[in-house]
Amino acid sequence: MIVAIDGPAGSGKSTIAGQLAARLGFEKLDTGAMYRAVALAALERAADLDDEDIIDELARTVRIEVARRAGERARVLLDGADVTDAIRTPAIDACVSKVSAYPGVRQAMLDVQRRAAEGHDIVAEGRDIGTVVFPAAEVKVFLTADPAERARRRVAQRHEADAVAPSDDELAQELQRTLDAIERRDQLDSSREVAPLVPADDAVHIDSTAASIDEVVARIADLIQERR
Ligand code: C5P
Repeated sequence: MIVAIDGPAGSGKSTIAGQLAARLGFEKLDTGAMYRAVALAALERAADLDDEDIIDELARTVRIEVARRAGERARVLLDGADVTDAIRTPAIDACVSKVSAYPGVRQAMLDVQRRAAEGHDIVAEGRDIGTVVFPAAEVKVFLTADPAERARRRVAQRHEADAVAPSDDELAQELQRTLDAIERRDQLDSSREVAPLVPADDAVHIDSTAASIDEVVARIADLIQERR
């Protein structure tokens, strides 16, 4: 069985997909991590991000793996090196949408994603899972939330482990920067020619702005139950 969860940055896809996968005993497939790994490979090699041929070639030749160990967070490996944390930086946020818009990059990742899902029950999250990667998925969800709420969640997540909380001023500035970055990324992801961020015709729309994670997870678990 395949459960597809698509939606914009910060809508809660990753947390919700993770909880659903744990609850159902399914594998979680984080497709954004793969595009992030390609963007990181490009930055590490100081590749010209505007040179589509070079970036396509890079996406075809790097080895991207998602390693899971029971009870631990999945690790993302790029040519064998652990890049789990390195792919979650503002520098990657800022350039990943450029890289992911190249058709050659998308084709390379499509192959990796379909191979990763072979023989598994999975919860896959991304932008084009229900439309392109797994159009026959049994359950498709398009998860959204107001941009301001998505920015607030991202910032809260970033400061979760802080010993000293940032000042109100610092927080307000960071919120604004995060909101700008999220809106820029959504705009690029929604307007690209190949596999844009759009809901599949048969996706169930869920707005998580005012809902708790548990409520959204319960709602999707019900949908899965109905289709099983
Ligand atoms: O989900 P996450 O924020 O980690 O995704 C990072 C970026 O990867 C997105 O902004 C988008 O450009 C790209 N992406 C994509 N298709 C997917 C998943 C992610 O284009 N299925």
